[in-house]
Amino acid sequence: MTPRIALIAHDKKKDDMIALAREYAGFLRTCKLCATGTTGGRLIAEVGLTVERKHSGPLGGDLQIGALLVDGHIDAVIFLRDPMTPQPHEPDINALVRACDVHNVACATNLATAHLVLSQLQADAAKPQPVA
Ligand code: PGA
Repeated sequence: MTPRIALIAHDKKKDDMIALAREYAGFLRTCKLCATGTTGGRLIAEVGLTVERKHSGPLGGDLQIGALLVDGHIDAVIFLRDPMTPQPHEPDINALVRACDVHNVACATNLATAHLVLSQLQADAAKPQPVA
C-alpha cells in the first residue's frame, strides 16, 4: 500500500526538511504526501515532489493534517519542530502530536527520528508484497 506521509517544518527547520526530502526523494515520490502550506510550497519548488498543500501551520494547517490523521488517512508524520522558538499555534501543534499518540501514528519530531521512520518505511515498501 502507498505510504501516506505528512510533512511539517517550523521556519528554522525548513532547510533541514528540504535536505531530508532530497535525501529520500526517490522514496517520497512513491508516497502520498501532504504538508502545511509553506513547507509544502518549498517541497514542491525545491525538491519537485507532488504534495497536497494544506493551510499554513499558524492558520490551521496542523489541525487539517490532524483531521486527516484522525480519519485514518495518514501513516506517519514528519514534524520538524523548533523547540527554541515560541509558536503562536502551540495548541494546534500539541493537538496534532496528541492525535498521533491517540491513533498510534508514527510522529518524528526531530531529524534523527525522521531518518529512522523514513528509512523503515522505505525498507517496508521495498519488501515483496504478499499476493492477495
Ligand atoms: P508552514 O507551517 O509549513 O505553513 O510554515 C508549519 C508550522 O508552522 O506549523
